[in-house]
Amino acid sequence: MLTGTVTVTTSAKIELIDVTTQINKAIKNSGCKEGICYLFNPHTTSAITINEGVDPHVREDLIATLKKIVPSNLNYKHLEGNSAAHIMTTLVGSSGIVFITDGSVNLGTWQRIFLCEFDGPRERTMKWRILGA
Ligand code: ZN
Repeated sequence: MLTGTVTVTTSAKIELIDVTTQINKAIKNSGCKEGICYLFNPHTTSAITINEGVDPHVREDLIATLKKIVPSNLNYKHLEGNSAAHIMTTLVGSSGIVFITDGSVNLGTWQRIFLCEFDGPRERTMKWRILGA
C-alpha cells in the first residue's frame, strides 16, 4: 500500500482542474502495474469528479449548471459566506476510485480526473492511496 498527495493551486473561485497526469505520475513512481487507486479530497469546499476532459465546454456546462442548482445568494445560515461551495462539494463528492492497468489509470476514452474548486483560489491537496502490485 502506498499513499501520497497531489497539490494543486487553483486560480479561480470555481473551476475544474485536470489532475490525471499527476495521479498517473504517482502511480508510475509507486511501481504499481495492476491495482486500485483511491482518491480523497480532505477539503469541505472542493470535490473530485471524473468526466470528459477533451471538450472544455463540458467543464463550463458543469459549472454553469451547478451554479444554477446552488445559487450563491440564498439566505444561508453559515456565517463564513461560502455555503454554496459546501453544498456543491456534497453534490459532487469527496472521493473517487480508479482501476490501475499497465501502470496507469484505466479511464474511458474521454475521461479525466478533476479536482473541483468551489471556493478558490487557494491551494488544495488531494490524497491518493494505491493498492496493488
Ligand atoms: Zn464555510
